[in-house]
Amino acid sequence: MRRPTTPGEQARRIRLNETISFLTTLANLSDNPKDISRFAERFPAARGFRVSPWLVRHWAMILEGEDYLPGRSDGVLLRLYWLMPLRETLRAVWRAPDRRSKLWGIMRISQDFFQYGDRSLVRIPLSNEGDYFLSLRSPSRFEEQILQFIDLTDWTGYCANPDCQHPYYLSKRKKKYCNRACAKPAQQAAKRKWFNTKGSRRRADKRRDMSRQWGRQWE
Ligand SMILES: [Zn+2]
Repeated sequence: MRRPTTPGEQARRIRLNETISFLTTLANLSDNPKDISRFAERFPAARGFRVSPWLVRHWAMILEGEDYLPGRSDGVLLRLYWLMPLRETLRAVWRAPDRRSKLWGIMRISQDFFQYGDRSLVRIPLSNEGDYFLSLRSPSRFEEQILQFIDLTDWTGYCANPDCQHPYYLSKRKKKYCNRACAKPAQQAAKRKWFNTKGSRRRADKRRDMSRQWGRQWE
């Protein structure tokens, strides 16, 4: 008999499911600002990532140089210079070939998007100045959920259907397509191929057998 789940286990499962849907929604997020607003509405964690808007504005100034347009809101700049690059790194981690590459990718997310992103403009990887930042404050839910990806690296999948709108998925089971609807075109193509090759041979054999039978009737 199965042991009843304890409230602790139940809470962990709910949190895990929440993380799975958070990560897959973020990885599949489009560039459309409306989709991004919906993402922020659906996941409270997406609103509390604690990146300082002035810091992001500073990055924009550095990267855009003379093309920098000052009139844009903090939200627009956060989307362009923090959330979208984070989504790209998450996608790269998702599709990385093995667990080790994925762990390195997640560490890079933690350092580039949460540690320095939160604290300072200083980024001198070859000096020890960065060690100062290792006295961290408690993580935001956004950071927690991204780091929980470490436990899910064996579940990452990328849908083989080239027309899939949400190709990034997490699943315990190894599968080729994210869902049945995405597998359908390939199944139909395989059926068609079978019908045109093996099937047509079979039909020809059947015709031959039939005509032999008919022929024998008059023997
Ligand atoms: Zn799909």
